[in-house]
Amino acid sequence: MATHCIVIHGGAGTILRSSMNPEMEAAYRSGLKAALEKADELLHKGGSALDAVELAVSVMEDNPLFNAGKGSVFTHDGKNEMDASIMCGNTLKAGAASGLMHIKNPVRLAREIMDHSEHVFLCGKGAEEFAQSRQMQMEPESYFYTKQRYDQLLEIRDTGKTQMDHSAPAEKPSEKKFGTVGAVALDTYGNLAAATSTGGMTNKRFGRVGDTPIIGAGTYANNNSCAVSCTGHGELFIRAVVGHDVACMVEYGKRSLHEACDEVVNKKLVKLGGEGGLIAIDRQGNAEMIFNSEGMYRGIKKADGDFQIAIYRD
Ligand code: ASP
Repeated sequence: MATHCIVIHGGAGTILRSSMNPEMEAAYRSGLKAALEKADELLHKGGSALDAVELAVSVMEDNPLFNAGKGSVFTHDGKNEMDASIMCGNTLKAGAASGLMHIKNPVRLAREIMDHSEHVFLCGKGAEEFAQSRQMQMEPESYFYTKQRYDQLLEIRDTGKTQMDHSAPAEKPSEKKFGTVGAVALDTYGNLAAATSTGGMTNKRFGRVGDTPIIGAGTYANNNSCAVSCTGHGELFIRAVVGHDVACMVEYGKRSLHEACDEVVNKKLVKLGGEGGLIAIDRQGNAEMIFNSEGMYRGIKKADGDFQIAIYRD
């Protein structure tokens, strides 16, 4: 039986120890741990990589510390517009949704679109109507509100600039960080999957869509190469087609997973000015958690018991 593994991220950016207190750090770590443990348990029982990434992401969507589901950042207009996607590396089936305002777990809607519609990507009203027709859990706009995120919007609303989740205003760029969530997994059948979910960027225009729901950019999975989930400045990740580029380097370029991730995150993205990171896994169980920012909330749990959670570079 192949070994199984789950890797997650809770966003990348400049996460300074000085701006983190021990309680906050413990809360982030326990949020990551809960997601890893649930997904690992599912994989351990013979569950699929697809179910594992959906579960891990939905656990983080329910945690207001992360910029996805409850706790999503606000648009310029003071609304939450969420994006998510999921992809199966075995079948290359995928589902994605954007501009969601009432879906409790956007990643579950992405999965539902993949499994129960003839489409890959639904947006806005059409996506929410589809969710209703599938009896998915909807919430009023107030459910997604958190004071911390709203304060972040008020700080920069009049600057005309968008900002990554948890970022400090432009004068304090050293505190920048991203809070999108994502997961990649390998199951005992040797299949790969990836999922990503986000509220996007604070002060974004309404209707703005980042890399998260775009298959091949923020999320990609293919058993021939690897599964990838990204976090960072979405516009640059779209332009660099990050997920697919990593997979292509592995499949056609015959590069190791590490080399491919390093090239994209530390060279190509840096050249474009794209701050952020990604997690990736291949069928041999090689896993990467790589970022060009100061830190990235991240964690990994393998079948052999190997278990790590980290935030900073060390
Ligand atoms: N990639 C996300 C977006 O641009 C933001 C993030 O990763 O925090 O919407």
